[in-house]
Amino acid sequence: MASLFSKYEGLAGSLSAVVAAGGRNPFAVVIEKPLSSTVGVIEGRETLLFGTNNYLGLSQSEHAIKAAQAAAAACGVGTTGSRIANGTQSLHRQLERKIADFFRRRDAMVFSTGYQANLGMISALAGKDDYLLLDADSHASIYDGSRLSAAQVIRFRHNDPDDLYKRIKRLDAPDAAKLVVVEGIYSMTGNVAPVAEFAAVKKETGAYLLVDEAHSFGVLGEHGRGSAEAEGVEADVDFIVGTFSKSLGTVGGYCVSDHPELELVRLNCRPYMFTASLPPEVIAATSAALDEMQAHPELRTRLMENAARLHAGFVRLGLNASQRVSPVIAVTLETVEQAIPMWNRLLELGVYVNLSLPPATPDSRPLLRCSVMATHTAAQIDQALEIFRQAAEDCNVPLSAKETAV
Ligand code: PMP
Repeated sequence: MASLFSKYEGLAGSLSAVVAAGGRNPFAVVIEKPLSSTVGVIEGRETLLFGTNNYLGLSQSEHAIKAAQAAAAACGVGTTGSRIANGTQSLHRQLERKIADFFRRRDAMVFSTGYQANLGMISALAGKDDYLLLDADSHASIYDGSRLSAAQVIRFRHNDPDDLYKRIKRLDAPDAAKLVVVEGIYSMTGNVAPVAEFAAVKKETGAYLLVDEAHSFGVLGEHGRGSAEAEGVEADVDFIVGTFSKSLGTVGGYCVSDHPELELVRLNCRPYMFTASLPPEVIAATSAALDEMQAHPELRTRLMENAARLHAGFVRLGLNASQRVSPVIAVTLETVEQAIPMWNRLLELGVYVNLSLPPATPDSRPLLRCSVMATHTAAQIDQALEIFRQAAEDCNVPLSAKETAV
């Protein structure tokens, strides 16, 4: 009889090769204790965290922790139900109002995760007679949303508005509804989308535009509203999707829009309807973290200064860092045989980053994906850079990348 697990044989082989090459499983790292937003205990050692999405350090916000404690004491620790049944408390509606007001939009939907926000919005918006146009480097939640929808899916070249335009024109379906989906900042590479150019294509072709600001919310734009704010094209974006799990340091997702039909989407959105809503303590912590983000715009300034410091350090070392400075900086290595030992050595020397291996990387080379926080000190960044230098030397990784224009 066939085994359900025969399809795992290839994966088992690849995983054992990765573990054999470095001595540990890079996908099973345990942070034994977070000591602050920037330092955690891993394998018994204090380790600098340069591989989280905690861009503003708010996962450790005192204000948010107190708000969570008070909400749990007042309302309990869970709702036990869906937003459309028994899972909406006043706190949920208050947070939706607050998020909508922050984005200056008509309304907001709050989901239990950012993953579900993409899954839900994309599948609920794009029906069988519609077209979905996705950036080729889209996050898994966007691809999964497209699989849950009945729409025809077309991929365009990453960050290429001209390719998008050509593909829409080639469809020769002027009357069909089209939804274009892009991300503000791409999570693996730190690439920033040319949102103004995408907005121009959207207007020219009559398509709708959804921007996933998961990594750019709280990071880009004068007020932290993301890439659309930074490029001055918020009015041309129909739907902004995002997550609380990165700059706000909690968990949950949202969609904001001016389209009044958002109220109806709530009743046609399976990842919103058929799952339990966020517990009161998460809602309260998220709301407090949003207050803190708004009260402290200097966090964003510090984040960008830290990103520039880390990026300049990589360039000085001769590592092949992402071209653009953003809080996500990918260091590209040429081979997996270099990347696995280098990642392990970094961890042994006290720096945690994310190892990303092909085929999960955009150009089939491995990446050490680094992320910066507003709360990193200059000394921590310099220490991390020194550890990168040492690890590269220990692993015979050549330090010869040419300086790239930033
Ligand atoms: N969109 C993007 C671009 C992401 O990178 C992620 C998470 N890595 C998500 C959505 C999903 O967010 P969450 O982890 O909060 O569910």
